[in-house]
Amino acid sequence: MLNGLSVDVEDWFQVGAFENTIDRVDWDGLALRVADNVKFVLDLFDACEVKATFFTLGWVAEREPAAIRSIVERGHELASHGYDHARVFTLTPEQFAADLAKTRTILEDAGGAAITGYRAPSFSIDARTPWAHEVLAEQGYRYSSSVAPIVHDHYGWRDAPRFAFRPVEGSELVEIPVTTAQIGERRLAAGGGGFFRVLPYAFSRWAIARVNDRDERPAIFYFHPWEIDPDQPRMKDAPLRSRLRHYTNLSTMADKLRRLAGDFSWGRMDEIARIEAQRCVPFVS
Ligand SMILES: [Zn+2]
Repeated sequence: MLNGLSVDVEDWFQVGAFENTIDRVDWDGLALRVADNVKFVLDLFDACEVKATFFTLGWVAEREPAAIRSIVERGHELASHGYDHARVFTLTPEQFAADLAKTRTILEDAGGAAITGYRAPSFSIDARTPWAHEVLAEQGYRYSSSVAPIVHDHYGWRDAPRFAFRPVEGSELVEIPVTTAQIGERRLAAGGGGFFRVLPYAFSRWAIARVNDRDERPAIFYFHPWEIDPDQPRMKDAPLRSRLRHYTNLSTMADKLRRLAGDFSWGRMDEIARIEAQRCVPFVS
């Protein structure tokens, strides 16, 4: 079973947990660490012989085009994570369309490859944005991986399907939600992020194996370049809960990723989209 491996390419200060601590207008004064961290991730992937998809912010690609080009040159998929991490439910449909178009131009210029995949910042396509998939379909995207079919304090679309679906009537667009593990009536986040970093690796291994074996579907896993960077600056003014979530286990993350790469089979999201397109069902909100 081929599983989908993805990296959301943003820097240490561009995360939802710090949005009330770091002002958007101050971003340009902060030290960029993302290019070095992407290089570390690319080397790790080469050593583990895995390919992945890098959902990348347009803001990052404008400033670090060489790092973005190396993602493509080393055989990975470059895809869109929006321009500056504005969550979709904070935008109008027109603003969302403009954000997508602007980001695609920047990424295609930097990477020299067509962009056909999208991941919403903080999985922010949900019940509040019934128009979002239509905009993606209009712009010719083949797939989106922007839905967390779960309840979470920052995000979630509880009623969405757990596995790939077609969100727009008459369109081939496929939505591939991030992985959850179903335990009775409950759905647990099991696709990466803080879940993977904070909890013991055995829990992730169990959850992904359960999705592969019981559900017989691919797992969709994600992490961020800053999660392998224990030397990043510390945001002392952020709320304790955010700091705990952001800084726990940064130094053990690379080893965990190597184990994950060895225990399962991983590939690019465009490959997963091609496979899942043959079996997914309509779900139009
Ligand atoms: Zn993100």
